[in-house]
Amino acid sequence: MSQAQIIDGKAFAAALRDRVAVEVAALKAEHGLTPGLAVVLVGEDAASQVYVRNKGEQTLAAGMHSETHRLPADTTQAELLSLVDRLNLDPAVHGLLVQFPLPDHLSQAAVVAAISPDKDVDGLTVANAGRLASGLPALTPCTPTGCMLLLRDLLGDLKGKRAVVIGRSNLMGKPMAQLLLAADCTVTIAHSRTVDLPAVCREADILVAAVGRPEMVRGDWIKPGAVVLDVGINRLPARDPEAAAAGKTRLVGDVAFAEAVGVASAVTPVPGGIGPMTIACLLANTVSAAKRQNGLPE
Ligand code: NAP
Repeated sequence: MSQAQIIDGKAFAAALRDRVAVEVAALKAEHGLTPGLAVVLVGEDAASQVYVRNKGEQTLAAGMHSETHRLPADTTQAELLSLVDRLNLDPAVHGLLVQFPLPDHLSQAAVVAAISPDKDVDGLTVANAGRLASGLPALTPCTPTGCMLLLRDLLGDLKGKRAVVIGRSNLMGKPMAQLLLAADCTVTIAHSRTVDLPAVCREADILVAAVGRPEMVRGDWIKPGAVVLDVGINRLPARDPEAAAAGKTRLVGDVAFAEAVGVASAVTPVPGGIGPMTIACLLANTVSAAKRQNGLPE
């Protein structure tokens, strides 16, 4: 059997960032408009620090305005909401993202509810989720948006494809399913209560795994020739016992990659597949938000 194409999300994301940079340069030159992204980080979570730094660097590299607001872990809900309110009103900020997870004493739902839907470049507000579900133009969550770009590049028209999304989170599974539905796929959403998940997955021309369970999707869950997008990011101890003892880790996805490449027609690796698309789509969403806020066509 032939081996699956391994989708190079890193290269695809780099090309998308280049396109965003060209668009930003044109907005500056033709309209005096510099799209701006503000990122808010509360506390010291190590992974969040890395994500936030990468977001800031890539925003600047695209020629955009970037600001990062680092707040201490004991920030109160009122202080955080007051910063969100201020950024909602700041004309230099077109996109606003609060990095999750927040410390336990803060409410993510209250923060999402406070973000202006026009600046909600993570697509998490009820307004944007509702617009997506209603078939209206919306800011859509970055990771599923990146998945759709990869799928369209690979398959072109998605009309009539059978798609299975494993996971039903507001950030990933649900918007992914809505985007596939909007592209005329026949969509099934699977979750922890789904009966006979392997059989459900075997129906998929497009299988998206967004679960958070290392290598859960086995090769024999995959329909031969299917396209498999592995969104999962799971940190396991390094294979080498000495490295593991020293606390070194490795990343694996939700899909048993070595098995999937023998069955699928194309598959995303972890790392280097879906992950890099997320920030590139965040930049693209910020440019879209800046255009909408300034009455420019997209
Ligand atoms: P989440 O909120 O924890 O949702 C996980 C989903 O998986 C839930 O809907 C859950 O079902 C389902 N699930 C759990 N165990 C299952 C099982 N045994 N069989 C079938 N379904 C099961 O996670 P998330 O935020 O959607 O993220 C999912 C994964 O994607 C994580 O590994 C995360 O790190 C990764 N991720 C990556 C990116 C990126 O690449 N940039 C972005 C976002 C997320 P129930 O609803 O029934 O509990």
